[in-house]
Amino acid sequence: MPSYRAPVEDTLFLLNDVLGFHRHANLAGFSEASRDVVEAVLSEGGKLADEVLAPVNQVGDVEGCTREADGAVRTPKGFKAAYDAYARGGWMGLSVPEEYGGQGLPHTLNTAMQEFASGANLALGMYPGLTQGAMAALLVHGSEAQKTTYLPKMVEGAWTGTMNLTEPHCGTDLGLLKTKAVPNGDGSYALTGTKIFISAGEHDLSENIVHLVIARIEGAPAGTKGISLFVVPKFLVEADGSVGARNGVSCGSIEHKMGIHGNSTCVMNYDGATGWLVGQENRGLAAMFVMMNEARLAVGVQGLGQSEVAYQNAVAYAKDRLQGRALTGAKEPAKAADPIIVHPDVRRTLMGIRAFNESARALMLWTALQSDISHRSEDAKERQTADDLLGLLTPVVKGVLTDRGFANAVEAQQMFGGHGYIEEWGMSQFVRDARIAMIYEGANGIQAMDLIGRKLPKDGGRAMMAFLGEVQAFIEAHEDAAMAPFTGPLQAGLKDLQGATMWLMQNAFAKPDNAGAAATDYMHLLGLVAMGYMWARIAKAAAAKPGDARMEAKLVTGRFYMERTLPETATRLARIKAGADTTMALAAEAF
Ligand SMILES: Cc1cc2nc3c(=O)[nH]c(=O)nc-3n(C[C@H](O)[C@H](O)[C@H](O)COP(=O)(O)OP(=O)(O)OC[C@H]3O[C@@H](n4cnc5c(N)ncnc54)[C@H](O)[C@@H]3O)c2cc1C
Repeated sequence: MPSYRAPVEDTLFLLNDVLGFHRHANLAGFSEASRDVVEAVLSEGGKLADEVLAPVNQVGDVEGCTREADGAVRTPKGFKAAYDAYARGGWMGLSVPEEYGGQGLPHTLNTAMQEFASGANLALGMYPGLTQGAMAALLVHGSEAQKTTYLPKMVEGAWTGTMNLTEPHCGTDLGLLKTKAVPNGDGSYALTGTKIFISAGEHDLSENIVHLVIARIEGAPAGTKGISLFVVPKFLVEADGSVGARNGVSCGSIEHKMGIHGNSTCVMNYDGATGWLVGQENRGLAAMFVMMNEARLAVGVQGLGQSEVAYQNAVAYAKDRLQGRALTGAKEPAKAADPIIVHPDVRRTLMGIRAFNESARALMLWTALQSDISHRSEDAKERQTADDLLGLLTPVVKGVLTDRGFANAVEAQQMFGGHGYIEEWGMSQFVRDARIAMIYEGANGIQAMDLIGRKLPKDGGRAMMAFLGEVQAFIEAHEDAAMAPFTGPLQAGLKDLQGATMWLMQNAFAKPDNAGAAATDYMHLLGLVAMGYMWARIAKAAAAKPGDARMEAKLVTGRFYMERTLPETATRLARIKAGADTTMALAAEAF
């Protein structure tokens, strides 16, 4: 049976020694998050992930969810108890303001916990994950009455949340949506339509489900300008806050899918269901974007979570499996063969995943920290810089961490040889579960287009200039010999990123296909450099702790990244500069 150990120590090192988390004590919620508190919170979270969530991961995959004849959905054995433990532990409201029952702690800590939950049990972690996304949208766009009605129950975990965007004929292009909202005359609306692929749309974990649904109010403009957001509870809520009559929303069926079997993916039928507008009429997409941005970061974290758990199990197997002898002579002559971890090609694989995981974790936490600063700082300039970086990095965290997370799960599976293909070892589940993160919350090609089409040119390229400036300033401030193995390659990667950005400025405006054809390579190029920057910062912090074996290992892993992963920037740049000509030359009929 596969195992999982949440990377608590590594997370603490990143927060305390690399990212300067405690320098932000002036921000709301951060003064409560002292070193001791952070350590206690993450240790408890890690324990919950290791001891409660992970043990029901494989059973969730095997058993999946079941829809009863009456439309009720049963989650796998053990999910309810594990979910209850998660809710009882107060994890749902970790960063929700105290006035709604939460703990008001930084979102950065919540993000760390999301990684632990995703690594331990992705399917189960999605139920609270979606609830947190729904709470984020209500917090920003909900009326005070909506906040007080829904948030405390969701913080408790008594009610969960969902996000209802996708319809049978539209996923990426939400402007095509057909779900209709008709005013009831009493401030509420009647919603009618079908939503598909709704995660956690129906289940037995909570007493009520709070659906956030996008729909078009009768007579609203066509396209994205006519989309409104509604809150539609499964059970209507009585004046005293208790659960009342069943609303006109039901689960028509659940999907049989490649992975995340323990999460119910539902077709949701809205048959005149009563809903209430969240935010302004026809401004629903903007409101939903609050939820989507939060969810995009959380999905990026899922990619890292799967990469980490797959790596941990591959390492355990590689130390145990005896095959062949080391090229330099037997390492364990008393045994029939050496463990496969002696082979350079096995090492190459494990080092590649490890080097990704540690810097991806840093990037994820750094991005989450920008989210906290952008929401909590009282300094307008500081808020703006953080918001710029958050916007720029969100598609990178989503797209790169999930593309690589899946690729790493496959590589880790490879370490098991044929056994990796056999279900009982669990590696197949990691691969299957990791795959969805590349698709939902906006397929990764769309993340790349968001980066290149919206985030890059926004405000005259201010965010990218700030990022390039920050990395350059770090390199110039660390020109000593000890840092040269990190800053040298980082400078080369940065030059490729600058070259790609310049090429796009000169070649994409007049010919938009050049931008579209470059988008995915550009997203990965930025991800490679951002993680290279994280490695340089990690190296600086690790070098300050000589004699610590864990830190020595970090310095080696960081050098591996610089030598073997970061040079990929040159290939990405070459592809970008090739332009769109051959990509677009063939007529559709030629395919
Ligand atoms: C298991 C699962 C859970 C899900 N959970 C939810 C949920 O909780 N709530 C919800 O609302 N939805 C959910 N979804 C839906 C998911 O978000 C969509 O499937 C996804 O956004 C893609 O939409 P689509 O399937 O309609 O693909 P399409 O939009 O048809 O896209 C197909 C392909 O074309 C590409 N493409 C489309 N347009 C462009 C373009 N303009 N430029 C470049 N490439 C383009 C896409 O990148 C993609 O590769 C879930 C889906 C699955 C499978």
